[in-house]
Amino acid sequence: MKMTAGKLLSRQADGPLTRELVLEPGRFGLGKVPLRLAPDDVASMVCGFCSTGCALNVHLRKGAAINITPTTDYPVNLGMACPKGWEALTPLAAADRATTPLLRDAAGATRAVDWDTAMQVFTLRLKAIQDRHGPESIAWLGSGQITTEELAFLGALGKFGMGILHGDGNTRQCMATSVSAYKESFGFDAPPFTYRDLEESDVLVFIGSNLCIAHPILWQRVLRNPNDPRIIVIDPRRTETAAAATSHYAIQPKSDLVLLYGLANILIARGWIHREYIAQHTDGFDEFAKHVQAFDLHTVAAKTGLTESQLEDLASAIYNGKRVSFWWTMGVNQGHEATRTAQAVINLALMTGNIGRPGTGANSITGQCNAMGSRLFSNTTNLLGGHDFRNAAHREKIALLLGIPIERIASENSLAYDQILDGVERGKIKALWIIGTNPMHSWIESRKLRDRVFLKLDFLVVQDMYHSTETAREAHLLLPAAAWGEKEGTFINSERRFGLIKKVSRAPGQALSDFNIFRLVAHYWGCAEIFREWTSPEAVFQIIKRASRGQPCDITGIRDYRMIDEAGGVQWPLTEGASLDSSERRLFEDGRFYRANGRARFVFADPTPVPEAPSREYPLVLLTGRGSSAQWHTQTRTAKSDILRQLYPGAIYVEINPIDAQEARVKSHELVLVESRRGAIQARAVITGTTAPGQIFVPMHYAATNQLTLSAFDPDSRQPAYKACAVRIRALKGRAGKKRGRPFRRRSALARARD
Ligand code: SF4
Repeated sequence: MKMTAGKLLSRQADGPLTRELVLEPGRFGLGKVPLRLAPDDVASMVCGFCSTGCALNVHLRKGAAINITPTTDYPVNLGMACPKGWEALTPLAAADRATTPLLRDAAGATRAVDWDTAMQVFTLRLKAIQDRHGPESIAWLGSGQITTEELAFLGALGKFGMGILHGDGNTRQCMATSVSAYKESFGFDAPPFTYRDLEESDVLVFIGSNLCIAHPILWQRVLRNPNDPRIIVIDPRRTETAAAATSHYAIQPKSDLVLLYGLANILIARGWIHREYIAQHTDGFDEFAKHVQAFDLHTVAAKTGLTESQLEDLASAIYNGKRVSFWWTMGVNQGHEATRTAQAVINLALMTGNIGRPGTGANSITGQCNAMGSRLFSNTTNLLGGHDFRNAAHREKIALLLGIPIERIASENSLAYDQILDGVERGKIKALWIIGTNPMHSWIESRKLRDRVFLKLDFLVVQDMYHSTETAREAHLLLPAAAWGEKEGTFINSERRFGLIKKVSRAPGQALSDFNIFRLVAHYWGCAEIFREWTSPEAVFQIIKRASRGQPCDITGIRDYRMIDEAGGVQWPLTEGASLDSSERRLFEDGRFYRANGRARFVFADPTPVPEAPSREYPLVLLTGRGSSAQWHTQTRTAKSDILRQLYPGAIYVEINPIDAQEARVKSHELVLVESRRGAIQARAVITGTTAPGQIFVPMHYAATNQLTLSAFDPDSRQPAYKACAVRIRALKGRAGKKRGRPFRRRSALARARD
């Protein structure tokens, strides 16, 4: 590696220069840092894909990671792993790894540069923009795929070191709704469950969750349940989970809030509620009971597409269950009124006393491996450690802890992801720093992002392990990052468990861990003094520990990484002096919540119309979601595995109900044009009864999918509503040599109902 002593002089003429900064060889872990493990060791570490947080044994031979087996004595996965986990090492060796910084020139060509040049350009360009356009002119978008320590570093560096006001992360796309819902209902973003609850319920209700595919190991935990549980799935699609359930309630898309209020109304009207629990531990029940009176059986049946007897059966199952747990994921979170829907789930758990006991809970299952780390420690919409930027005492506590003037801490939250992109489109935000995420693929209405947003940027920095992602290919400057398995740190899983990742492989070329890139940035930006204690991931872990003191997520009782390793992960909270008496702990066993008065709150509102209802022109509802357990999000990693690619269709496909297929004259495996008001894509038809008439399903893993989706957001969480927009289909000349079909114009039952 070329290690020049770079000086910030006038070689980039677009910004004022105030200091000389020197990159010192040997600092920042830039050299080939040896692995801490013995050459033929076995390292147990948590998986870097989903939020389940399974532990995997990585087997080394002569210092090289050669194989993976699931860890048998880890309380999460108990010796199991899904296909992604088994193949976790493969993406590290891909040919398109980013191995050196890449800088784009004025003609649009990229060239490899050394880190010194990259950091100088990074600093000069961003400072120039900031000086010219103010602190709101640059922003970052982070990721729930990097470690907690890296998220904390990025958040502190961006806000306290670089003076950036706005940063958000891709957890906005999956978990923002749960954050908003829990905060308002419980007083803190606190998923209450432990995975053992999946084994201890006698009734499990899954709402908008295809657990078999999205969280396969958690589904295995359900299958271990010895209570012969009733498994209820509420989902418009007959998903793999719905097919395996005891009962599937195939509601009309986005009628979930009406359904949940209707169920509450039945339970209240019949006295099937836990009055003592409500009186002792909650606020707002009387108002809520009054609110749901409008959701009578007839109205709810008409809006959800269920029969009145199905509604009664569902309410009765909840009433008759001794230990009822409610679980939700993206089917709820990615809706236009998602926060209220999540809170409607929480309300059912509260009113029936199904919380704080084994096998119960209102349980949001997270998406990414470190979504929870992002929620608590990324310093974006929460001040470090779940604190509040708007609370002066919180700002003072964090300023004191970090040894920075309180004035460096903004008294407002960051803009949300969509608002940042809106700022770019309006020309207010001129530069973006994107870390470990691929919005050109994953963001809603992606053509708008390409055609109307990214083109406005003066400077786009992308920090990623691959140079080939849709977003990385647009970068003015690409910073090559180490991946899972090439660095250390912690992830926090869905059940609040801190787990360790370890360095079992060396990053290729000049790629650095995100942690070390942040150290470099601090140095070049001239704010390294603030981060003098931030010398290693474990040192930062000790800092975030101190930041958590007195918070619901207090982890002052976790001594160090070694304790996490030896304990099989540790769930928050664990306060200083508390003993770790169980490896699986749930919250609210004492009935005390995190609101000031210790009581949970019933939160509710009137349902609102879907942002884009089916119409005569676009008669079908588009549902998006996961395709298979072998695919992960934008497939930047899973597509690198020959084995995983055998487990799912390589080309984009669309699931169409046979009735709709017949009306549109579409045959199985033919190419279909799927059109929305935003774009048109071609996909291979899969004719199947898993989607109801009037609905189609396209997996989220293909880049084209989000050309169709609509920029609509839950107003409370600002999470995108990926799950329902209006589309139409048309047969194209396909494999069987069919002629172009006519546009499919049948009005669905839902469209007719909404007209
Ligand atoms: Fe990894 Fe999630 Fe699969 Fe477990 S279920 S092996 S955490 S991807």
